[in-house]
Amino acid sequence: MEIKLRFFGAAQNVTGSCYLIEANGARILVDCGLYQERDLKTRNWDPLPVPAESLHAILLTHAHLDHCGRVPKLLKEGFTGPVYATAATADIAKIIMLDSAFIQEEDIKHKRKRHEREGRTSPFPYEPLYTTEDAEKAVERLQNAPYEKEVQIADGITAAFFEAGHIFGSTSIKLKITQDDESRTLLFSGDVGRWDVPIIRDPAVIGAADYVLVESTYGDRDHKPVADIPDALADVVNRTVERGGNIVIPSFAVERTQELLFHLSNLLEEGRIPHLLSFVDSPMAVSVTEVFKRHPELFDDSTNKMIRNGQHPCDLPGLEMSRSVDQSKAIKEVQASTIIIAGSGMCTGGRIKHHLKNNITDAKNTILFVGYQAVGTLGRLILEGLAEIRIHGEKWPVNASIEKINGFSAHADRTELIRWLSGIGSAPKKVFVVHGEPKAAHSFAEKISTEKGWPVHVPEYDEEVILD
Ligand SMILES: [Zn+2]
Repeated sequence: MEIKLRFFGAAQNVTGSCYLIEANGARILVDCGLYQERDLKTRNWDPLPVPAESLHAILLTHAHLDHCGRVPKLLKEGFTGPVYATAATADIAKIIMLDSAFIQEEDIKHKRKRHEREGRTSPFPYEPLYTTEDAEKAVERLQNAPYEKEVQIADGITAAFFEAGHIFGSTSIKLKITQDDESRTLLFSGDVGRWDVPIIRDPAVIGAADYVLVESTYGDRDHKPVADIPDALADVVNRTVERGGNIVIPSFAVERTQELLFHLSNLLEEGRIPHLLSFVDSPMAVSVTEVFKRHPELFDDSTNKMIRNGQHPCDLPGLEMSRSVDQSKAIKEVQASTIIIAGSGMCTGGRIKHHLKNNITDAKNTILFVGYQAVGTLGRLILEGLAEIRIHGEKWPVNASIEKINGFSAHADRTELIRWLSGIGSAPKKVFVVHGEPKAAHSFAEKISTEKGWPVHVPEYDEEVILD
């Protein structure tokens, strides 16, 4: 038995997921995501350890940019094979990859001029990592993979995709490699979600595997319970409406927006919040919500029950989905209290900046955070209580009420990751802890070792291991 496994991303860091498997004369990538940490972005330009044209296939666990965002680059470099993903992942990955290409093309138009003006040089070439044309080629390579059925990838290699409960369409992937009547299984967790989260199903129980790669984003801590979210949301909405204010919610386009709609729809149905005009003001969130509506087969039991009662999880009375700039601009003319959900989730760009300008100076309004705010982002600065913020070169005093609801997370916490691992049953030959900052990854490795007694390793970037 000889299988080579190389960690070409998300090894002691969170983004840039990319694992290379070489066996039976075939080369396969599981995920090929973009690096998003500022210090690691130069790695996006690094060539793969093997020529792109020598790859047989790419398998995608899910459609987040840090898992699929480098795929178009491989098309540019000569990859011609299939990209396997579940149907919902393929639908969302298409939106994400095209958006990523567009952003890079736009960014590069201004970058060189700005750098010349500021006397700076860039560590990156003055060209986009890939173009819209490359992203379109990547979209053409997408092939639908069914859930829980083996798909033939290469000679003696099959892959099966299992629900990961992280975002819509997300999966863990189990590779089965057979050589001379002997088989080994490699399980890639992808990003593991939480149990009892709205709309999507819980992470699947997958069963035995010889080698396991498990994520560890929150491997060193536990989250607040999912069950606390509706009460907290109703409380914020009602207090703001009593003041006659608006609720402005910066939100990620994928999953968080749809989750918010689910909670608002239920609270309205239960009579716990008043009927309000609500807006989803993000072209990407509108497109992703349409993907949700196309795949009701992926909904969990509580969502199916909702649909039987005539409610839709991504819809509520008084909701407007705004795509165009004119629709977006018209929102500020509404006289009554409104709920405005817009991107980007950390207020680093997009339409949320306009809604912040229109709302943050008035004490009647609420800015409600429902997601992680990275250090240095505008969202983080607001959350830290800055008295005045800068948007589009102008200063705006922060008078609105600033609130945060904990418990929203697309990632399993430490206890939930152990629960996911327990689904494997008997001890694997080795567990590789990936997709976590060094502290979280090592802490979780320690936890697996003490709690399960399983052999565990935290690989380094570009480390290669031989599996027998
Ligand atoms: Zn993810």
